[in-house]
Amino acid sequence: MEADEAPHPPPPWKQNKSAVAVEASSGPLASAAARLSARSRAIPPARDFHFYNNFPSFKSPVAAAAARAESSLGGLGASTLLPKQQQQQPPFPTEDLDDAYDWLVARNDDLLEMFAASADEFKALREKEEAQGRKVAAEKMAGDGFQVVYGKKKKKKMGMGEEGVGRSEAFGSSGSVRMATMDRAAASGPKPKVPFHIPTIPRPQDVHRIVVDNTSKPFDHAFLERSDDGARAIHPLEKLPMEQLFDRRVPESEPLKPPALDDTPFTFVEDRKTLEVLVTKLKSATEFAVDLEHNHYRSFQGLTCLMQISTRTEDFIVDTLKLRNCLGENLREVFQDPTKKKVMHGAGRDIIWLQRDFGIYVCNLFDTGQASRILQMDRNSLEHLLQYFCGVTANKEYQSADWRLRPLPDEMTKYAREDTHYLLYIYDLMRLRLVNESSGDDLLLEVCKRSNEICLQLYEKELLTDSSYLYIHGFVFLLVYHVFVLETIQAV
Ligand code: AMP
Ligand code: ZN
Ligand code: MN
Repeated sequence: MEADEAPHPPPPWKQNKSAVAVEASSGPLASAAARLSARSRAIPPARDFHFYNNFPSFKSPVAAAAARAESSLGGLGASTLLPKQQQQQPPFPTEDLDDAYDWLVARNDDLLEMFAASADEFKALREKEEAQGRKVAAEKMAGDGFQVVYGKKKKKKMGMGEEGVGRSEAFGSSGSVRMATMDRAAASGPKPKVPFHIPTIPRPQDVHRIVVDNTSKPFDHAFLERSDDGARAIHPLEKLPMEQLFDRRVPESEPLKPPALDDTPFTFVEDRKTLEVLVTKLKSATEFAVDLEHNHYRSFQGLTCLMQISTRTEDFIVDTLKLRNCLGENLREVFQDPTKKKVMHGAGRDIIWLQRDFGIYVCNLFDTGQASRILQMDRNSLEHLLQYFCGVTANKEYQSADWRLRPLPDEMTKYAREDTHYLLYIYDLMRLRLVNESSGDDLLLEVCKRSNEICLQLYEKELLTDSSYLYIHGFVFLLVYHVFVLETIQAV
C-alpha cells in the first residue's frame, strides 16, 4: 500500500499519547529547525569563518541566526511544555561556550531520565495488567477513545452478498472474547466494530516459537549473495536482464472475470503438508497474486500474520504466524523465479515484510498500484480498482483489524481473500489498457520498471540510537536545535 492510496498505517510510536506530542512538535518549528540544521553545514569552519566574518553580508545574518537560536533555546529551557523540575533549571547560558554545551547535555540527560522513568512506569502498569487479566489497560483504553466490547449476540446482515456474516456474530459468537475496538461509531454513525487489537490473543511469538532479533544490529540478508567487497547484499533481480522479465504478450481473448468467492476453491494453509501442496501448484502456475496482512501494534518490528495467494483458479490464505519458520524454504523459489509473474497491489511494504520475516525476495512483479498511476486513474487504492474493474465493494474496515486472531473469522477470511481473488483479472485488464494507451511511450514497460524498483528495495532495520527516544517522547525538535546551535556556536 502506498502513500497516496489508503493512508499509511501510523508507525507504532504514533499510536499513543506521545504521538500527539510528536504531532505538535512536527509542525513549522521542527521543519524550520531541520532546514536550518541542514544549511548550517554550509557555514565555513575555523579560519575560513573568521575570513568570511569580515564581510557584513555574512556576519550579520549569522549573528542574527545565532541570537535567534540562543533565544529559542532559552525559551525551550523555560517552556511550560517541560515538567516543573526542568523549568526550574538555570536558563540557557549565552556567555560561555562550554557552559552552553554542558547545559544542553544536562537537559538531554534530564529528558532521558524522564523517559526511563516513564518507561518504568509503563512496565509496572503492564505487569500489573498482566497479573489482573489485562484489565487495567482495557479500562484505560476505554477512557482514551476506545471501547471495551464484550461479545454480543447481535445478528445483522451486512449487505455484502450471501456470505456476509454480521460482524458482531463473527467476532462475538464465542461470548467470551473481550475486545477493544476503535470507537469509530462516535465519529461516523453506528458502524459495526472491527477489533484492531484483541488483548486476549496470546503472543504469537510465544505460541509459535517465533524468534525476532530486536537487537540494534543491522538486518542480515542471510539469503543474499554479497558484493565482492562484502559491503552490500545483492538482490537476485540485479543480475536479471530486463528482457527476461518483460513480456509484452497480452491476453488474446477477452479476460475472464473470476468466479465468485463461493464458487472458488479455498484453502487455509496451516500445516507443512498443505503448504507443500500449495508450492506444487505455484510451481506449475505462470502467475499468481499475493497480499499480506500484518500486525505492528504488539511488537517492535511487526509480524506478518497472513499471506493471501490467488492463482487463476484457487484462493489460499497461509497462516504465516504458524508456518513462519518454514515459509521461506518452501516459497523462496517461486517468488524469486523470473518466469513467474507476481501480481501485488502497492507492494512496497509487502516486499519488505517478505524479506524481513521469511527471507523471501521477489523477482518479476506487476504492481497494480503503479499501473493505476501510469494509467492516471482517479484513485489508486485497491478498493477503487475492485470497484472500477470488478464492481466489487471491499470492506476496508478490516484493513487494520487484528490479523493475529485465530481461527480467522469468516468475515476476515472473506475480506482477506478479496484482496487477491480479483487481482489477476485486474492485471489482465490493466495490461490491455497499458498496451492500448501506449503511443510513443511504452506504458507496460514503465510499469514493469517501476515494479522492479520496488522489488529492489532492501529491508533495513530501524536501529536504536542514543537519540531515538527523542522521537518517542516528542522532543525531536530539541535535538535538532541542539545540533544547529552547537554548529553555529562552534563556527562563531
Ligand atoms: P493491505 O495492503 O491493505 O492488505 O494492508 C496490509 C496491512 O497494512 C494490514 O494488515 C494492516 O496491518 C496495515 N494497514 C493497511 N491499511 C491500514 C490502515 N488504514 N490502518 C492501519 N493499518 C493498516
Ligand atoms: Zn497489501
Ligand atoms: Mn490485504
